Amino acid sequence: MSANKCVDLRSDTVTKPSADMRRAMVEAEVGDDVLGDDPTVIKLQERVAEMMGKEAALFVPSGSMANQTSIRAHTQPGDEIIAHEGSHIYHYEGGAPSAISGCSLCLLPGARGLFSAEQVTGAIRPQDSHFAQSRLVIVENTHNRGGGTVWPLTTVEKVARAARAGGLLLHLDGARLMNACVATGHKPAEFAKHFDSISTCFSKGLGAPVGSAVAGSTEFIRRVHRYRKMFGGGMRQSGILAAAALYALDHHIERLADDHENAKLLAGALAEMPHVTIDVAGVETNIVYFDIDEDFASGRQFCDKLEAEEIRMLPIGPQRVRAVTHLDVSRDGVERAVARIDQYCRSKG
Ligand SMILES: *Cc1c(COP(=O)(O)O)cnc(C)c1O
Repeated sequence: MSANKCVDLRSDTVTKPSADMRRAMVEAEVGDDVLGDDPTVIKLQERVAEMMGKEAALFVPSGSMANQTSIRAHTQPGDEIIAHEGSHIYHYEGGAPSAISGCSLCLLPGARGLFSAEQVTGAIRPQDSHFAQSRLVIVENTHNRGGGTVWPLTTVEKVARAARAGGLLLHLDGARLMNACVATGHKPAEFAKHFDSISTCFSKGLGAPVGSAVAGSTEFIRRVHRYRKMFGGGMRQSGILAAAALYALDHHIERLADDHENAKLLAGALAEMPHVTIDVAGVETNIVYFDIDEDFASGRQFCDKLEAEEIRMLPIGPQRVRAVTHLDVSRDGVERAVARIDQYCRSKG
């Protein structure tokens, strides 16, 4: 399968650094960041802190490390974290909250990755030695398994108020926070101001090859820094990577709107196809989920068939398929994907 003909909709993590991004990486001024003297990393961290309206930020190798160093820095073993039952920290980070931080999870149900202030209030445990100590609420915006859902700012405000009233801290898993910002017109700091810490990814739709960041108070980031080292995430001349992230912040934020438009195009076309069920109105950003009729194919068979046609998607449930748009998929690419998926759905399977 030739790499450039293939339309790879498995994830926005498959994006490759562009020629200009690679040039920025080659030209980056670097130092030893573990010793604290990589100027490009320092510049990125200042930039992220400012963008989030926080005192400080730290560059880390991955979104999982951003979330898990934050969780470790906010909690003690025996604490409980309140999060959505579909959250990334629960499903896709190797069981880290229990393994690394000794925390239990109180998982809340809710359509599309959202939950309410009332649910948070109801989940906060009384101060009693029988119970785990409720400590932290985690919100994921956009919500990945929820379908790229944007958390309305008013819901964020209410959830934050409920958490604060119970004496809890708040962390924002903002792996795709920029998608939420582009979709709503809000600034990152408008969401971030309700949280004690924020993680964000440069390696998703922003198109950098590696890297995430955590933002928060100076004192909090000092603790995260310590856990980053402990978890093996201290990097040396990481300015090469920070340069890619800076390039992404300069050039790849506004264009996320194209990905959102392409996702809507794909969703609208899927809705017209036989054997496919999709909630088109639910496609708010760059993630498209849809279900295949059982009597036609399983999610896995569907994806295997289309992979042979150079259209790559991920089966994420027995009948469920995920397609994600990103900067390496053009409108032409989406149209090609639509044509091949349509042809397949109108065949005998
Ligand atoms: C991708 C993602 C992360 C981080 O994943 P890494 O692969 O560890 O970088 C965290 N949260 C959400 C919601 C994500 O989609």
